[in-house]
Amino acid sequence: MHFNPYEVLNLSRDAGEDDIKKAYRQQAMKFHPDRNPGDHQAEEKFKEVGRAYDILSDPGKRSLYDRYGTVDDREGPLGGGPFSGFGMEDALRAFMENFGFGGFSGGDMESRGEDLTVSIELTLPEAVLGGERLLKAERFEPCETCDGSGADPKAGTQTCLQCRGRGRVETYRRTLLGTFRSVSPCRICRGSGKVPRKPCSGCRGNGVAKKTRSITVQLPPGLSEGHCLTLRGQGHHPGDAGGVPGNLRVLIRSVDYQGFTREGDDLVHRLPISYPEAVAGAVLPVPDPCGGEPLTVKVPEGVAGGARIALRGKGLGRLDRRGRGDLLVRVEIFVPRKPGRRERKLLEEMASMDGFAPPGR
Ligand SMILES: [Zn+2]
Ligand SMILES: [Zn+2]
Repeated sequence: MHFNPYEVLNLSRDAGEDDIKKAYRQQAMKFHPDRNPGDHQAEEKFKEVGRAYDILSDPGKRSLYDRYGTVDDREGPLGGGPFSGFGMEDALRAFMENFGFGGFSGGDMESRGEDLTVSIELTLPEAVLGGERLLKAERFEPCETCDGSGADPKAGTQTCLQCRGRGRVETYRRTLLGTFRSVSPCRICRGSGKVPRKPCSGCRGNGVAKKTRSITVQLPPGLSEGHCLTLRGQGHHPGDAGGVPGNLRVLIRSVDYQGFTREGDDLVHRLPISYPEAVAGAVLPVPDPCGGEPLTVKVPEGVAGGARIALRGKGLGRLDRRGRGDLLVRVEIFVPRKPGRRERKLLEEMASMDGFAPPGR
């Protein structure tokens, strides 16, 4: 099968160094085995992308390919045919070197900051309608004094002693087939070849410092206790050059239901009414869960205690569908403990009326 690195990275023949890097990063992130666990096709794609980058990022290999349409990889450990020796390990190493990670093959691939969790209490209108919330989050960000390098900017850098400024360390391994040389990024300088002369005083050399940030969060309608929103890349920065920040998780700790009771998407409101209102019916105000002008409920005549009257679409928002649940008005008939003299007289008169007698009496 003919291997065309330009096709693999979707590049034209005259692509520049930056285009190649950009295309590679995009494709490698997409097909990285950590993102596609157990996906054999993605694994093959990841290797192909690594091979393509290996060829196009090396001017010698690239001109060989451009002239002959193939690259005889003579430097492969076993000196075989085209691309022999370019396996998963090489693809992973290309990935790590390209993203500036200080990891080694077999170790953690991605330098990613920790997630940050902020828990909030929602107001009832927020739970019903959603909204926008300004959060304060304290998170690690690249230090402004040293631009995240961890080095005192005035003192400058010096050559790394470990790798003598090359950024890579070579190790030799003797086997039955001969001595193999392997190259990995230097652990001390993380591949840059330079180490700070003096650590930055702003971050004590960590490269990150704690910052309090105001972050706007969009709240969809229908959130309730235990829901969690994830804001990608808004968490802590790991402090490595080339590392990516973790996520910010916004946890809904509780909702202030303001006297309403929640039943799924519905809200229940208890409405005490008088005995005459129960008998004759009434139009009464009930509070709006959204905090607006009071709503009105029509209590029908002859209502029983405990009856529920539904105000359609006036309940909680729904996370998975459009619309809102209902506001259920639960009628409770108020019975006075100690009627006054006038009330008692009226009640005695009512008690003698046929219309108030229970059926069958
Ligand atoms: Zn600093
Ligand atoms: Zn070094």
